Amino acid sequence: MKVTRHGSNLVKLTRIWVMNCYLVREDDGLTLVDTGMGGSADGILAAARAEGAPIVRILLTHAHSDHVGSLDALHAQLPEADVLITARDARFLHGDKSLDPGEPQVKLRGGYPVCQTTPTRLLQPGDRVGSLEVIASPGHTPGHASFLDTRDGTLIAGDAFQTQGGIAVSGMVRWMFPLPAMATWHKPTALESARRLRQLDPSRLAVGHGAVIEAPGPAMDRAIAEAERSL
Ligand SMILES: [Zn+2]
Repeated sequence: MKVTRHGSNLVKLTRIWVMNCYLVREDDGLTLVDTGMGGSADGILAAARAEGAPIVRILLTHAHSDHVGSLDALHAQLPEADVLITARDARFLHGDKSLDPGEPQVKLRGGYPVCQTTPTRLLQPGDRVGSLEVIASPGHTPGHASFLDTRDGTLIAGDAFQTQGGIAVSGMVRWMFPLPAMATWHKPTALESARRLRQLDPSRLAVGHGAVIEAPGPAMDRAIAEAERSL
């Protein structure tokens, strides 16, 4: 696990070059944002030990396998930690892959593994999780969420954007790393979400795949303009 620090509260954990999850420092311990692919639990737990604080909650951006893959293994070792995901993407965790009547009726993409772990709290947009505000950012998945650290404007955007191979809105292919684009459910919804995230004017952008970007506004603008041209 490669560990990098960004500001005073964000620790990025990277496995296999491109698979990120994050530790967010809070007064009561650490919030883990996403769990990586299967086999990431030991590295995450070691990183938390090195930070000298316990993981008190596991927060998920969405239900794809590269983000929830180590959820069950972590839950087994951290049975007291809260597990939080949007109500919409929680349905995937127990194998319900139905679409709602109001949603675009297009095929789901990417892997949605069934998990044994039951979330302890289902999130709605606007909820607070420690210092993080839940921002709806559907498109990559129907219930994808991003998290804005209200202390310093850090935005943890999951796969709503990627920065690996160049910044891109979810659904736009980067040939150096096309997996997130190939797993995107509905591109027009993803573009709307990208605009909403840009309007938050984040100070820092942290994503599921790729480097953290400081002062990301211009880069987000470029990515949004490219997505607008292509849709
Ligand atoms: Zn991903």
